[in-house]
Amino acid sequence: MLKNWAVVPTCLPLIRRRCHACASERFRASGKFRVNAHHKILDAWLLVLCTDCGETAKLAVLERVNVRSVRPELLDRLHDNDPGLTAELLQDPLLQHRNRIDLDWDNAWRLDTGEPDHLDYEVIDVSVRFAARIPVRPERLIAEGCGLSRAEVERLTTEGKLVSAVRLSGKISGDFTFTLKR
Ligand SMILES: [Zn+2]
Repeated sequence: MLKNWAVVPTCLPLIRRRCHACASERFRASGKFRVNAHHKILDAWLLVLCTDCGETAKLAVLERVNVRSVRPELLDRLHDNDPGLTAELLQDPLLQHRNRIDLDWDNAWRLDTGEPDHLDYEVIDVSVRFAARIPVRPERLIAEGCGLSRAEVERLTTEGKLVSAVRLSGKISGDFTFTLKR
């Protein structure tokens, strides 16, 4: 029996960054961008708000780039405060690195297992797809998706009844597959 599961975002992740006003370590996206053009040089920021005090911080999206080198479609989306663009940019490793942030995905995703009918089969192969790069332990997903405790997942792994090419106890954020025999 082959099953397809998906790890899907349910809302935007929080942003790990220290607030200079109150020492909180989480910001949330404001949904707004700021674009500043001076002659032919363009800067753009994603505005984020401290979850505790509401202080605004700016995450650099474009830094001193020539306006002609920016795709018109991207400029339109920045000017329109496109919500999809916020989600895309937050997950962009380049933007994360440039702004020295990373993301807090706690309570911002769910596991979609489709129809709950697989428990009757002796062997199931499950393909897990990540709709965003959300760091999760496969163990936790398998426990949740198969209705098992973490201890049962560990036992099945030890007994060789739960097999995967990835390490099930480590965090991953990309697609993987596993086989469960009962
Ligand atoms: Zn603050």
